Amino acid sequence: MRILITGGAGFIGSHLCDRLLAEGNQVVVVDNFITGSPKNIAHHQNNPNFQFIKHDINEPFDVDGPLDAVMNLASPASPVGYLDNPIATLRVGAHGVYNSIEVARKKNARFLQASTSEVYGDPLEHPQRETYWGNVNCIGVRSVYDESKRFAESMTMAYYRTYNMPTRIIRIFNTYGPRMALDDGRVVPNFVKQAVRNEPLTVYGDGQATRAFCYVSDLVDGMLRLLWSNEFMPVNIGNPREMTVYDFALAVKSAAGPDCGSEIKFIQPHAARISDDPQRRRPDITRAQSILGWEPKVGLEDGLRQTIAYFKTIAV
Ligand code: NAD
Ligand code: UDP
Repeated sequence: MRILITGGAGFIGSHLCDRLLAEGNQVVVVDNFITGSPKNIAHHQNNPNFQFIKHDINEPFDVDGPLDAVMNLASPASPVGYLDNPIATLRVGAHGVYNSIEVARKKNARFLQASTSEVYGDPLEHPQRETYWGNVNCIGVRSVYDESKRFAESMTMAYYRTYNMPTRIIRIFNTYGPRMALDDGRVVPNFVKQAVRNEPLTVYGDGQATRAFCYVSDLVDGMLRLLWSNEFMPVNIGNPREMTVYDFALAVKSAAGPDCGSEIKFIQPHAARISDDPQRRRPDITRAQSILGWEPKVGLEDGLRQTIAYFKTIAV
């Protein structure tokens, strides 16, 4: 198979490249490095099955040769990333999705859109099922990401209905692992970086908001099962083990080992950083289990150990 991955130089996209290339596929990556890095894909540069095109998908583009699938992962993904780039984030869910899905349509390729649990906003239903329509503040600071992804889903469904295209929508819940960027700002890279540097772990507010963390290899596995399935409606992929941010800080400290001298520090970040911060989040993965036969396999302790090992190579 020959697969185009937009955003393939990012955290998840680069793991997707590794898996697809290891399985003998050809991979074309389009990325503009707005939040990704050439380092994430440098190990593939001499692989004849790998091609890289530097391009901003908010502008139209084409790819030479046939494609079997287009996987659209390009978008700033962390609150810091999208709060720093609000217009580019809105554009990538609109122009970027349009340009990518048009490539898929012209090539008769299937199309997978990376969506997010953020489409549920600060959810009033818990855990979140795919049938839930969400609770998003459409003019809040986070809306640049939430509404961009909601529009992206809408565009994907319009192409499915208009052209009967084989489209897929994956709603990704908090995913972590090696190659998250040092300055990404999300809770996993922040705490892990702080732990390996023996700096305080910065818990925002009272630390009682909850999240559920999925290791990247599990996510990639679910994403590919969805891609090759026949399911055109959205599917949640995430790990349902929910915990408070405070308990997550304890888990990182423990995984970092007895030499980790980090304290847990409660701080009040800039208001924009926690405005509309979802208070509870946990995926209902019933659909992924029944349609894809998927569930996560990597436990938090194992996943954190691998993430900490990676951050020791870049953050110390
Ligand atoms: P990331 O920032 O590491 O990767 C995103 C990649 O997209 C980067 O390499 C970036 O340079 C590229 N990109 C952004 N805008 C672009 C544009 N206009 N043109 C070309 N390339 C562009 O983030 P990630 O965590 O790997 O997220 C990948 C995808 O998964 C995103 O769409 C994100 O919204 C989605 N997602 C991730 C998570 C998570 O927990 N990691 C959760 C929900 C959804
Ligand atoms: N958070 C925190 N300390 C940090 C970074 C994040 O307490 O250094 C909190 C944040 O307020 C939120 C949760 O951790 O409640 C997850 O935030 P993240 O930025 O990872 O992404 P989100 O899940 O909100 O998209």
